[in-house]
Formats: sequence, C-alpha cells, structure tokens
Amino acid sequence: MGAYTDFHRRSIADRESFWTDEARRIHWHRPFSQVLDYSKPPFAKWFVGGQTNLCHNAIDRHLAARGDQPALVYISTETNTEKTYTYRELHTEVNRCAAVIAAQGVVRGDRVLLYMPMIPEAAIAMLACARLGAVHSVVFGGFAAASCASRIDDAKPKLLITADAGLRGGKAIHYKPLVDEAMRLAKHPPKNVLIVNRGIDKDFKPVPGRDLDYAEETRKHADAQVPVTWLESSDPSYILYTSGTTGKPKGVQRDTGGYAVALASSMEHIYCGKPGETMFTTSDVGWVVGHSYIVYGPLIQGMTTIFYEGLPIRPDAGIWWKIVADHKVSVMFSSPTAVRVLKKQDPAYMTKYDLSSLKHLFLAGEPLDEPTHRWIHDALGKPVIDHYWQTETGWPILSLAPGIEPAKVKYGSPGYPVYGYDLKLLRETDATEAGPDEKGVLTIAPPLPPGCMTTVWGDDERFVSTYFSDFPGKLLYSTFDWGVRDKDGYTFILGRTDDVINVAGHRIGTREIEEAVQAHSNIAEVAVVGVADPVKGQMPLAFAVVKDAKKVEAEADRAQQEKEVLAAVDRQLGAIARPKRVYFVTLLPKTRSGKLLRRSIQALAEGRDPGDLTTIEDPTALAQIRAALGVK
Ligand code: AMP
Repeated sequence: MGAYTDFHRRSIADRESFWTDEARRIHWHRPFSQVLDYSKPPFAKWFVGGQTNLCHNAIDRHLAARGDQPALVYISTETNTEKTYTYRELHTEVNRCAAVIAAQGVVRGDRVLLYMPMIPEAAIAMLACARLGAVHSVVFGGFAAASCASRIDDAKPKLLITADAGLRGGKAIHYKPLVDEAMRLAKHPPKNVLIVNRGIDKDFKPVPGRDLDYAEETRKHADAQVPVTWLESSDPSYILYTSGTTGKPKGVQRDTGGYAVALASSMEHIYCGKPGETMFTTSDVGWVVGHSYIVYGPLIQGMTTIFYEGLPIRPDAGIWWKIVADHKVSVMFSSPTAVRVLKKQDPAYMTKYDLSSLKHLFLAGEPLDEPTHRWIHDALGKPVIDHYWQTETGWPILSLAPGIEPAKVKYGSPGYPVYGYDLKLLRETDATEAGPDEKGVLTIAPPLPPGCMTTVWGDDERFVSTYFSDFPGKLLYSTFDWGVRDKDGYTFILGRTDDVINVAGHRIGTREIEEAVQAHSNIAEVAVVGVADPVKGQMPLAFAVVKDAKKVEAEADRAQQEKEVLAAVDRQLGAIARPKRVYFVTLLPKTRSGKLLRRSIQALAEGRDPGDLTTIEDPTALAQIRAALGVK
C-alpha cells in the first residue's frame, strides 16, 4: 500500500498543494485565490475566489471534443425504450429546460424541487438548475406526500418539477396525485408545477393556472441558449435531505467548486473511469449516489452515463449484464441489496454476456456481507470494490483506490481511508484512538475535504450540534458508524452507533417511522427497531401500545389494525419505510429513567441475547416482546 499511503499522507499534510493539483481537473471561469478558508471551524470553504459551474463542467466543456459522443443513454425496461443523448443533444435539452425554469422567475440561489422518476428529464432538470445557479432539491419518488411537503417547507422552492407517473416492475406509481397532496399540505408551496406527462396516468388532469406541461413549455424555448451563471465555489449547488435520529430530516447542503473537484478526482483515482468510456450506476437520482455517479461525476469526466429505469431482474436477471455488454460499460456501481437479489437467480446469467469491458464493480450504501462479496467477486471474475460513504460526504470515505494502486480486496471491508479524509477510529469512552482490531467510532477530523456537505440547509447550528458534538470538547465529525481496523489498515464497518437503520441501502431514522406510526389515532406509543434481513440488510419492526386495547383483542382485529398502521406509514413516509410487521403490546421495555431498550428488543428479534437488563423498569415488558415474536 506504499504508493497509496504516500498519496493519502500528502492529501492531509500538504492539503493546499494536493488540492491545487486536483482542482486542475475542472474548468474555472475565474481561478481561486485561496485553496481553503477554515477561519470558522468546522465550516470549510474550498477554492475561495474561484468561479465555476457544474453544468458547464458536465456538458459545455466537452462539446468541442465530444459533442457527438453519447453523454446519457436512457434505458427503460419498464417502457422498453432506449434513447441516447449525445453531449450536443444533452446541451440543447438542458438549455431548453433552463429557459423554461428561468421563465418561471427562478434565478441564482432560488430552490427548485424535483420529484421525478428515472427519466432523462430528471437529469436534464438537475443540470438546468445548475446552469442557472439555482439550487435543486431532489426528493426520491418513493417518498410520500407528507415527506415531500416537509421538504417543500424547508427548502421553499420557487418551482416544483415532476412527472405524471413512475413505473416499477410494470406497476404505475402516480406522482401527480402525490404532488397535489404535497402542495396542499405544504405551508410554502411554489406557485407552479412543471409536469412531464409520460401518458401513463390516464386520469391526468392539470390544475389550471398552476400546472405547466413540460413538452409544451420546452417547445416554446426550442432554440434557447441560456448562458451559464458563474458561481462562487462555495455557492450551494443542491440540497438533499437525509434521515438522522430526530424525526425531522436534514437538508444536506453541497457547494459547487469543491464538489466538482471531488467528483472529478474520484472518477480518476477511485473509479478509474476514462473520458469516452461508459459508467453504469444502478441507483436512483433521488439518492446521493444518483447525484454524484449517475449525473455529475461521469459527465464531468466526459464519460457516457447509463440512466436505467427498471428492476435488476426484469425481463430477466441478465438485464444489467446485457447492458454492460451492449454498451461496453467499464465502471459499474450498484448496491449490496441488488447483488443479494441477483444471488438468488440462476448464476448462468452472469456468464451469458461478454463482460470484458468491465474493469470494476463498486458497491456501497450498506454493509456488504462477506459471503455476498465473495459470491459476486467469483461470479464476475472482476474486482468488486465495497466502498463506504454517506449522503453528507457526497463521495467515498473508505475505499480502495485502483487509480493509484491495484486494488487488493479484503472481503467484508470497504478498504482504507480515502485521500482528503483525516479518519480516526475513536474509543467511545475517552475519544482516544482505538488500536488494531479494536472497535471504535469512525470520525473525521475537520476540515471535511472538498465535496462534503458544507452545512445543514438554513441551520448552521444544527450542522455543528448534529455532526460535531459526539465527543464533548472535541471538534470531530462523527459518522455515527462503528468500525474496526485491522493491522493492514483495512476498516470494517460494524453498524450504526445511533438509532438509524438501513433498508436496502436507504437510511431511515427509527424516530421518523415511530412518528409515522403514531399518526394512527389508536397508537399511544411505539418502538421501531431494525432487524437483520437476508436481502435488504435490515427491515423495520414496530412494537406498538394501543390506546383502545379492545381493537386488538381478536386475531382479525389485530390484522386490521396492523394494516391501518402500515397504511399510515405509507402515507407519512412512503412504502420504503413500511415495517415488516407491527406487533401490539401493552407495555414497552424501558429503563427506570424512561429510555427505550431498543437494543434489547432488536437482539430478541434477531434471536440474540438481550444483554444487560438490570436497569429495566418492568421485566414483563420484555416477556411481551418475546411472546409477540414467538421466541423464548
Ligand atoms: P446514506 O447516507 O443513506 O447513504 O447512508 C450512509 C450510511 O450507510 C453510513 O453511515 C453507513 O451506516 C451505511 N453504509 C454506506 N456504505 C456502506 C458500506 N460500504 N459498508 C457499510 N455500511 C455502509
């Protein structure tokens, strides 16, 4: 690991010269005069004085050399469509969209909320916002109306962009009624909604005076040339909401210049993606992986990005590998859950297609168990690189960096600290550094490197109190993940230190689910815990105390009540947060000081020992959990 160790050391010890070199990878309209302003810890401003633009770096910059190269290939196995946009065509579409957005009065710094399925217009709208210097806030299409409304109220967008519907596994997900409901619930709804009408929702009825038709509006601006708005490097590029321990999601705010540099640099050193090659990231634009490695990263690097709408097993489990073969994909990025889904299918699908173009498969978002890592590694016969990051960081924290040094994979580990990150594995008790093979909390000594969140949208204080207050008296960014490092410097992630769970790579706060369950009128109190799931990694389980016990006495009533509670979660948060089961009890296990014994509940649900129970207030509460789960 010699070459990489030196590379990493230089990124910390000689920060200024290191990042000056990396910053050459992007176009600066005006060069920066200072690499880092860290005069107000933990707030870091990268590339001060520099002016740039994400859209220019992703598209315009490439026009001369690769105008006719595919920039984005949209493949939908839901509608059986394939459509290629060259860099020049993408430029035209983004200009049209930017003109439409600008015509709605959106100017630099204004927010635009996107609630979109995986259609090219989602990427086009993101890039159009970036072109104008508007701040996009993409809300994952699986979130419910109430979640969308709370994000509207936090970001106060001037415009909302959506589609009539999305498709999943052949089933339509109607976005328009969800948006109508979100607009009704929001205290600060935008005036207009721009809608891509895919013709899926046959009952589609625009709201007069509010709804605008995307096709019609872009037609009006067919020849538009919208000049790039040059932004200060630290100007916000986007907001992306993520869950934590409280019920209220935080708006992760990203800058412009630092983000562009981090992505460009990672495309080279981590992903080894070369201009002209193709990258296939199987995520969704609603997640951070979609922002960084479906849209901005590959385009900044002059690559072709595959924009896929569909499931990994439809029409059959070979579809992703067929895409790799057809489009000569060199870099692929997916999730452990997707691999666990594929693992259940016929392994012949893995060898049916010519995968010779593929250099690496990257996986992230949730723990990659060793057997799955080993299976996919062997099945593909290519290095499968697990890497670890968070919405907050925007790019990897732990990874191998095959662009610097050949990757030596250790099953079950996402590798070693990525350059730019001064990572420390600390003992929880006294914040001293854990030794080899000793468990600790994974923390980052600030300043956070370029690309990472710069603050919580509209709430600097929350940025500090949430992320930098885990170790009193010490200004350290906590990832809220446990880790352990072996003698070779490889880190293994052991799970969260807080009450956040991870369902199929999506982070969900148990508090959020608890609040959604409590939206049901008969629920007095509830505990939600994450339990191990063979495919999705974790699934939420709810234990609820009802107000009117008569309603859960009979088996049929219990089933009805459970159905209603699950529907309440769907309404508040969306199906992705839906508990696997809701069990009804009369009491929840708590300490004498009233703290929920979540870890004991979780242990019982996973068939483990519930641990130290000396502080429990009423042991019969745990007996009820056991009875509900049918465990001894
Ligand atoms: P999110 O911001 O939703 O992507 O969630 C980030 C969290 O997912 C991290 O704090 C980890 O708990 C988990 N995570 C992400 N990548 C990995 C990985 N490669 N291995 C283990 N856990 C991961």
